[in-house]
Amino acid sequence: MDYAARQKRLAVQLHNAGVDALFLTHLANVRYLCGFSGSAGILVLRLVRASVSAIFYTDGRYKQQAAEEVHGAKVVITKKPAFETACEAVLRAGVQHMGFEAANLPYDNYRQMVRALRGKTKLKPVSGAVEQLRAIKDASEIEQMRAAALVGCSLFQTACTAIAPGVPESVVAGELELQARRAGAEKMSFDTIVAAGSRSALPHGRASAAPIPADGFVILDYGVILAGYCSDMTRTVHVGKVSPERRRMYEAVKAAQMASIQAVRPGAAVGDVDQAGRQLLKKAGYAAYFTHSTGHGVGIEIHEQPRVARGQNQKLAPGMVVTIEPGIYLPEEGGVRIEDMVLVTESANEVLTPTTRELIEL
Ligand code: ZN
Ligand code: ZN
Repeated sequence: MDYAARQKRLAVQLHNAGVDALFLTHLANVRYLCGFSGSAGILVLRLVRASVSAIFYTDGRYKQQAAEEVHGAKVVITKKPAFETACEAVLRAGVQHMGFEAANLPYDNYRQMVRALRGKTKLKPVSGAVEQLRAIKDASEIEQMRAAALVGCSLFQTACTAIAPGVPESVVAGELELQARRAGAEKMSFDTIVAAGSRSALPHGRASAAPIPADGFVILDYGVILAGYCSDMTRTVHVGKVSPERRRMYEAVKAAQMASIQAVRPGAAVGDVDQAGRQLLKKAGYAAYFTHSTGHGVGIEIHEQPRVARGQNQKLAPGMVVTIEPGIYLPEEGGVRIEDMVLVTESANEVLTPTTRELIEL
């Protein structure tokens, strides 16, 4: 990972935002900019003439980890809380205007920062600067994400084998997660969703103790984290023989998903990608039952920029990885969702999760 190049790209944005330093508290951004994957640390970037100085502050618990992981930043192991030491260093360095991550700085810490800086450094909320950079993955990130996506795909068969009438959803999730660990996953990207029968009408039906009914859809939505990068995919299977109405529902989602995937290309507005699938569901009479947006960026975090949602003008660019995940949720009856990870390439797109989308009856 080329941390120096990332910091340089960020420096341009900081310059444009009118700050000469950025105080980073969002750990996903810290990781992106210097490699630290632990759970406590502060990164301070300063613009010093034409270059960037980066200092990473953490406490003694992370001494060895920081030494191993952090690149492109000087590491300071603090005796006092890292936050306090970092603020003191900013004051000493005579920073004039400092950006902070408003969405990731608790109010108490903000007040502490204001007190520590004694009015000598002007504070400015800077939101989304690093997130914007992270939306476009570099070659090494794409490689990691490809690997994570393939591990995700390899778990689908395990889940299908575990699904049977009477088996609790949580047991299916457990089998899938054990297999994920065996395949090298650090952890799951989020709480595994296994939603069977009428529970499949819940777009976020986390695996519960409920037994899988003898007849109905089962939505499996899960992902693994591999080398810090998340995968995310959804497949819906049917337990028992599927009725013609339910097949129609499934095929509508599949057609919508494929239409949205086809719309993924450099320069396409994310709102148009959403619309491509949404209009097919509308034509099929399901518009009212597609209750969420089409997808989201994915990377170090499970939900990243860009949002693939109705009315959004943001343009796709090569290197972005987004999910495409339309769904239909009929209360009481059940739901269908199909989700893939899609990489925006120079010419069009590449699906990173090549698991079959044909309806599987178990
Ligand atoms: Zn998902
Ligand atoms: Zn998703």
